[in-house]
Amino acid sequence: MSGILFDRIALIGIGLIGSSIARDIKALGLAGEVVISTRSPETLKRAEELALGDRYTTSAAEAVRDADLVIVSVPVGSSGLVAEQIAPNLKPGAILTDVGSTKASVIAQMAPHVPEGVHFIPGHPLAGTEKSGPDAGFEGLFRGRWCIFTPLPETDEAALGRLRNFWIALGSKIDEMDPQHHDKVLAIVSHLPHIIAYNIVGTADDLETVTESEVIKYSASGFRDFTRLAASDPTMWRDVCLHNKDAILEMLARFSEDLAYLQRAIRWGEGDKLFELFSRTRTIRRSIVQAGQDVDAPDFGRHALDPKA
Ligand code: NAP
Repeated sequence: MSGILFDRIALIGIGLIGSSIARDIKALGLAGEVVISTRSPETLKRAEELALGDRYTTSAAEAVRDADLVIVSVPVGSSGLVAEQIAPNLKPGAILTDVGSTKASVIAQMAPHVPEGVHFIPGHPLAGTEKSGPDAGFEGLFRGRWCIFTPLPETDEAALGRLRNFWIALGSKIDEMDPQHHDKVLAIVSHLPHIIAYNIVGTADDLETVTESEVIKYSASGFRDFTRLAASDPTMWRDVCLHNKDAILEMLARFSEDLAYLQRAIRWGEGDKLFELFSRTRTIRRSIVQAGQDVDAPDFGRHALDPKA
């Protein structure tokens, strides 16, 4: 038990991320009361069945009344609408944060609605899975993972400190950067890999010379790892692409240039160029393992988790 950090926390959106936060708040006893809101009665009912909070409502505006901390965990394209709905009921002195995967767009959508006296601190926990909905969340999702804040210039240090302590209680490591930089970094480490995965799985699906059953049967030869990313939530990833357009297009242009270099090296049999690149990329993998961001088990530790895999 970590002890109460906020008297009342309102969670707007109770999918994978919102419900994982709810589970941690409960397990660690971080709030006097947790109010949960989501737009659909079905999801709300499921959250109640899972006993993720203390009170439940489909009205985001109702949920934030008297809350000391409000966490918005909805697809980034909906964050402006949510901010507009909750703004009139936000308590002066409350902290308002989000978990969206893009930051400049979320700030542009939400900040204009935030009343004076409310501390808006955009955030993004770098943790997740390809699953969605309240059943997909789990306790400890954020442990050992980074949570990036992109505070606005006028951000109150005391409020920032309180939010930092909240994420630290969930086991996260905190970093701060400006929103544009966040969006560029995430474009390369997260958004581009997902787009490549969606594309490669789409290409395989369109191939006429290879049957679908062969794609599935022989998938362990590399394809399988792309299918996990390509199974991610379509709404979330549509919104990420639309709301981090510039950074993603910049990274895609770089990617296409580098792919053309690789294509040329293969066409002209330039084995030394291929070997040099493949050696360089292997070092990056080693650094990720050394930084504790993945395990060094063969096949990404899959066999250790599932002997049948
Ligand atoms: P999710 O599992 O699909 O849950 C989304 C939640 O948002 C649901 O409660 C859903 O409500 C609600 N919602 C959807 N559209 C809405 C709208 N128009 N207005 C109000 N509520 C709406 O998604 P998630 O994976 O938790 O992602 C939530 C946020 O976290 C996104 O901004 C995403 O970019 C960010 N994020 C995701 C990951 C990841 O790996 N998944 C990691 C880090 C950050 P209903 O079910 O009631 O419709």
